[in-house]
Amino acid sequence: MTDIRIELHSDTQTRPTAGMRQAMADAVVGDEQKGEDPSVNRLLDMAKELFGKEDAVFMPSGTMCNQISLMVHCKPGDEVLSDKTAHILNLEGGGAAVFAGSLVRPIDGDRGIFSAQQLQDNIRVVRRHTPKPRMVAIEQTSNLGGGTIWPLETIREVGAVAKENGLAMHMDGARVLNAVVASNVSAQDFAEPFDTLWLDLSKGLGCPFGAVMLGSKDDIDAAWQWKQRMGGAMRQAGVIAAAGVYALENHVDRMAEDHANAKFFAERLAEIPGVEIDPSGVETNLVFFDVSKTGLTAAQVHDRLLEHGVRIGASAGASMRAVTHLDVSKEQLAEAAEVLSTVAVEAAAA
Ligand SMILES: *Cc1c(COP(=O)(O)O)cnc(C)c1O
Repeated sequence: MTDIRIELHSDTQTRPTAGMRQAMADAVVGDEQKGEDPSVNRLLDMAKELFGKEDAVFMPSGTMCNQISLMVHCKPGDEVLSDKTAHILNLEGGGAAVFAGSLVRPIDGDRGIFSAQQLQDNIRVVRRHTPKPRMVAIEQTSNLGGGTIWPLETIREVGAVAKENGLAMHMDGARVLNAVVASNVSAQDFAEPFDTLWLDLSKGLGCPFGAVMLGSKDDIDAAWQWKQRMGGAMRQAGVIAAAGVYALENHVDRMAEDHANAKFFAERLAEIPGVEIDPSGVETNLVFFDVSKTGLTAAQVHDRLLEHGVRIGASAGASMRAVTHLDVSKEQLAEAAEVLSTVAVEAAAA
């Protein structure tokens, strides 16, 4: 494998910092599945306070939080409404069908965000032969929507429609703290309309893995039983939870730097002939751009960048995604833009 000098493939690519590793080494631990790990309990208390929720559970991954939330809220055959780009629909191996037996009904939102009216229009009149709508899933920020932030007002309107129709509200909060930092809306305000939500520790927060799922005591009790059934209950998980505590204390405010860097990178990309991007659409740490006018596919651009030690994600076609995070500096982003410019110029000459 080529040596990757500048890693923009994902914010999951961060390595634990020296301070985080020290916190992990020093962690006081116990048995997580008995509720006796002090570091896990500390992390859960911090998350409960941050989001203003009654109860919380530590999970191995965000995907498990999404899947378990489906099982908490839905019976087999029930329907979940999400944006058409949602992770829960597109990137979890069809798990909704496998575990909860849910159907996910995609809503045609704008950059990952749909309106209360669109939700209303997609809620079926339940008859014997229709699936029963049960849950609304919102991604904060929307990943494939472009790192876009769900405005608080839209969430509240969508939440009101969900409530009128007896639907549970669930937040896939893989990057919810990016939204908090970028918008100055508090985590509590963002969380309030949701029955369940979760926070990923392994994205912008920079932990090796882990997620925290939050909700009412009843929903978290139910989530705990699914976690146990699926083999997600752990033992001395405090070694990992301590990384989460460290991240909540040290890595939240600094995400503003990732957002500024993403904007900077987008502006540099906009100057490259053949690269199409609207820098004003970059709201957080995700930078999507189109390379079709370079005459190359995204996969080809990906491979050529890699030869220069730069990795940027390619999707099918001509769309690419670069992600800023705590292991990438502004200087490296300037260099990555230079490399991409060289690749584009070479392609135009060929
Ligand atoms: C990464 C991600 C997930 C899954 O989280 P894991 O911790 O990788 O399982 C879910 N939703 C969104 C929007 C994500 O970006």
